Parts: sequence; C-alpha cells; structure tokens
Amino acid sequence: MNIKNKVVGNIDTKLKIQRIIGDVKGSKGTPTVIFFGGIHGNELAGVKALQKVYTVMVEKEIPLVGNFYAISGNIQAIEKNERFVDVDLNRIWTKDALANTTNTNFTEYNERTSIYKVIKEIVAIEAGPFYFIDLHTTSSETNPFITISDSLNNRKFSNVFAMPTVLGIEEYLEGPLLTFINEFGHVALGFEAGQHYNETSIDNCVAFIWLALEASGCIAKSEIEKYDFHKHYLSFFNDVQDFYEIKYKYQIGKQERFAMLDGFTNFETITKHQKLAISNGSIVGSPMEGKIFMPLYQQQGDDGFFIITRIPRFWLYLSILVRTLKLYHVLRILPGIKQDNRDTYTLIVNPKTARFLTTQIFHLFGFRKKSIQNNRWYFTRRDRKINAFI
Ligand SMILES: [Zn+2]
Repeated sequence: MNIKNKVVGNIDTKLKIQRIIGDVKGSKGTPTVIFFGGIHGNELAGVKALQKVYTVMVEKEIPLVGNFYAISGNIQAIEKNERFVDVDLNRIWTKDALANTTNTNFTEYNERTSIYKVIKEIVAIEAGPFYFIDLHTTSSETNPFITISDSLNNRKFSNVFAMPTVLGIEEYLEGPLLTFINEFGHVALGFEAGQHYNETSIDNCVAFIWLALEASGCIAKSEIEKYDFHKHYLSFFNDVQDFYEIKYKYQIGKQERFAMLDGFTNFETITKHQKLAISNGSIVGSPMEGKIFMPLYQQQGDDGFFIITRIPRFWLYLSILVRTLKLYHVLRILPGIKQDNRDTYTLIVNPKTARFLTTQIFHLFGFRKKSIQNNRWYFTRRDRKINAFI
C-alpha cells in the first residue's frame, strides 16, 4: 500500500481526493485510530475536518503515541456531491454481500473493495487496539450525536463523550460499515456532526477527531491546541450523556412517494399519532411516543425516520453486569432457543416456544436481532473477541 503523508484536495467546494487523506505514525505504534469521512458522498464535513486536523498534525509536528489514519469513503460520489452513485456504500458490508461478486459494475462495490483492502492492511501491519470512527452528517438539523452497535467496548469508548449515544442501529440497517468492523471485535463508533451543509458540522468533526485521539490514548491532552475549547464546544450542544435505543423505523417502499412534514429536528419529542410525514398522499402518524431520529429531508435514502427512547441508567448497568458475568450462556438452555452451529455468536429462537422472552431481554444480554428466517429469529451477540478480518 502506498500511503503518502500529503494532503490532497481542495477543502472548499468541489473535492478531489484520494483514498488516504493522511496518515501519521506515532512513537509507540499503539493504539491505531482510523477515521472515515465521506462514506456518503454528500457528507463532506468529515472529509474536510480530517484534512484540517491532518494539516495541523503535520505542520505543528504534534507527537503521536499511536497511529492516525484518515480514509475517504465513496470517492466517486464525493466528486459528484451525491450520497451514492449506484447503491448506498453504507449498506453493503455483510459477509454475504462481500462474497457476492455479481454487480461488480456498481461503483460502490469497487469503492468497498478498495476501502476493505486498505483497512485489512492497516490491521495487518499496525498494532491494536484499533478504533474505527466514521464521520457523518444528516439531512435534518441536529446536535452532534454518536451511533454504535451495542457492545460493551463500544459503550465504554462512547461514554467518554458528553453527547447522546444511540444504540442498536444494526438491528434496523442492513450492512453498515461499522457493524461489519465491530463483528471482528474492534471498537467502531459513528459520529453524526450536524446538517450536511452547515459549516458548524466541520467544526464539530474537528473537535470530535481531537477528542477521540485523546480518548484513545493516541495524543496527549497537552499536545492538543485548544483541547478544552473543543471539549466545551461539543458539550455546549449536549451537556448530558444519555443512551438511546431505536424502537421503530419507517421503511420507504420502492414505489412510495414519501415526504417528511417540514420542521422536525433530530431528537425532537413526538407523541403517539402525531403527524410526521406524507406517504402517497396520506398522512403518516407516529406509532408511539418517543423522540424522532434522523428524519429524511433529502431525495436519496429509504429510511424515512426512526423513533428512539432513552434507556434507563439501571437497565444500562444491569446489562453490563449480566454480560460481564457471561450470563448469556443461560439463554442457550432455555426452551425454544438453540445455538446456531454455523456461528458461535448467534442464537436461533423459536418465538412461539420462547415467547416468555421479549426482544428487550435479548438486548439486555447483548444480543441483537439479525434476521428472521423460516419463522425463526436469529439473534447475534455484539460483544466479540478480536478476530482477523476475513
Ligand atoms: Zn451518512
């Protein structure tokens, strides 16, 4: 791999970039922190912020203990300033999809192959622990927040940042990059910085990159210029560190004409039956009370909106306890539940026999629903041992 210590690109409007935005090798070689920007091509804040931070690192000769990598995502979509060209690059990271070699003419399949080659090589040549951080923005206005798959190592890392963390997105989205990475045991955290075209989204990304480099132990606090400013800057938006769970997703159908009603901001409280959107000329009401999450205000994408609720502290602590004590082994011996012989992390559940167990119980023990096949639910455990990439 030819990794160059050079900033390439124009950080104003049209971006022309290469896969490695920048990399810096530290003195001790561990940890390794890998950032992605522009996995969605219309989300340029992350790319611009990575260029800014990298430039400061090089110009000020900031000493690193571990390694820093900044990787660009969907390069061809970035050049067009579109979310994607053929398919969403953040929905094609499953083992099955990776093994599928048809549709290789899709732009994003080539982007995925290129990104995968880079991260595989980084993990092969560098020392862990590895921290993968994916920088995004949203179509609606939002304060910054974090999304993670619900593993304890992810929770521990995101707990450092004073902002809302949303768990369990892996249950609702097929094939996000971070869920895939997390299945190999690495910390993988998504940062949503703000609205796509809002300049503050770049500042939020810059602040978050520095804080994450400090939190991972890659750079000492004293080496980061304006560390306290960055910390307060982000916590200015969110002074509470709450965890939220996704309860509902509105899936837009293939031929459906869908539009959110104007004016919803992320995390806005909504009531049951509240009017949220228009679908094929009819009103879409909220099926429950909660907070609206990632309402869709752009053409591309088929997740209309999500509804989230706050997870009580007690429930969070209880889940840490049952997972640390490995009580999930108990689940396997209950009626209606058996181990999947093909995957040690997966349980196959007969929902009729095991109806005494709710999805919440599986969440508590660290499992998330992966799929439903032949009237069986497949729950997979998110806490993993570190494994080499396939
Ligand atoms: Zn995105």
